Amino acid sequence: MQFDFSARQLITRLIFWLSVSSFVGYLIGHVWAAMTLVSVSLLIWHYLHLNKLVTWLWNSKSLSPPMAEGGWGRIYDGLYHLIRKHRNKQKALNERIRRFRDGAEALPDAALVLSNDLTILWGNKKAQNLIGIQWPGDVGQRIDNLIRFPEFAKYLEAGNFESPCNVPSPLDAEKQLELRMMAYGSDQVLFLARDISKVHRLEEMRRDFVANVSHELKTPLTVVRGYVEMIQLAENDFSPQWLKAFSTIEGQVSRMDRLVEQLLVLSKVEVNSDVENSDIVNMPEMLGQLIEDSQWLNVDKKHEITFDIAPDIAMLGSDTELKSACSNLLSNAIGYTPENGKIHVSWQYDGERAKFSVTDNGPGIKAVDVARLTERFYRVDKSRSRDTGGSGLGLAIVKHVVSHHHGELVIKSDWGKGSEFSIYFPNEVISSLKN
Ligand code: ADP
Repeated sequence: MQFDFSARQLITRLIFWLSVSSFVGYLIGHVWAAMTLVSVSLLIWHYLHLNKLVTWLWNSKSLSPPMAEGGWGRIYDGLYHLIRKHRNKQKALNERIRRFRDGAEALPDAALVLSNDLTILWGNKKAQNLIGIQWPGDVGQRIDNLIRFPEFAKYLEAGNFESPCNVPSPLDAEKQLELRMMAYGSDQVLFLARDISKVHRLEEMRRDFVANVSHELKTPLTVVRGYVEMIQLAENDFSPQWLKAFSTIEGQVSRMDRLVEQLLVLSKVEVNSDVENSDIVNMPEMLGQLIEDSQWLNVDKKHEITFDIAPDIAMLGSDTELKSACSNLLSNAIGYTPENGKIHVSWQYDGERAKFSVTDNGPGIKAVDVARLTERFYRVDKSRSRDTGGSGLGLAIVKHVVSHHHGELVIKSDWGKGSEFSIYFPNEVISSLKN
């Protein structure tokens, strides 16, 4: 039966003990002494149980409480019930942690749990093999103390974790790692490192292959072009059919030459993962040169080309890369806009950023194609592009150059109305030509 702690029961019990003690006291003729004796006995009984409880709580290894009668029994059982509940919760929690750890251990990637200030809280075994994290020695260390590469420091500083960061492994420079970070829980960060050495090597092989083939093609092309030009000079020795054939050969060789040239430029800009933005590029001067060159490209199309070039905005970066990007955008506008079109070239501040843009009233590009324009060899209308001598590499080159200069390429186009290709450069790569 459960012990009743209600006020009524308490008063009943008090009256019972008072009655018993006063009755016994009456019988022996010492009422007060009997009552005192009973009270002291009750106090001692309670004290002994309290003592038992403290001993069990602090010194006993046993989970089961000592046996007790009455109210104390109920208190012991209550405590035992609480401890059991707590233990079960802890067991469930441990099980959940174990499952998470098993999952993290089964990952093919190195996984670390970091706190908000990027100190290591936990890591799987793969993290030891791939990044050399010592467990548990490195717990509490900041991740950038263990992965010491400028690319990673920049990645952390920029705080944009949507795209990954590629660095060599701190244990083996031959290995290439792809690092990803994502917020996890309320104040933790999940850090994943994947070995991408194979993909990296294949990508390197592809780049080398393209660069080598392009390089090797240059000499034979120059020789063929030289002979064709020589033959064309002796036009009296050949019939009109042959001259037409030679002219076609010359056209195709020139196209191939341009393609090889662009492939070489692309391999070069692909290798430079990030240009050392230390050279000051005089943009107004470079764009002035571009404007002059564009007059030659515009001889047949006779577009109306207008310019709005700020005379004082320079850039920190690579002169050749920037020239290549700007001239690609301008030559595309000239090439794809039908005769007598309108083209506007602008280099101005746009808020904090500098903006280079080329606007035309050409055919425009459908939204589905806009998203794919910067892919290598992607051409919207293959036949039209071939007519203009296009290879589909120009915008891929622009994309790489823009990324090296931490810029953003924005393509706005209205199908049938025209296009605007803009490059926004952030403050950090802009310089002033004033003073
Ligand atoms: P290409 O060497 O073929 O010009 P790009 O990468 O420079 O290659 O351009 C990719 C495609 O984008 C082109 O084939 C063309 O269809 C389209 N394009 C580029 N610029 C323009 C423009 N100003 N107007 C219309 N279409 C364009």
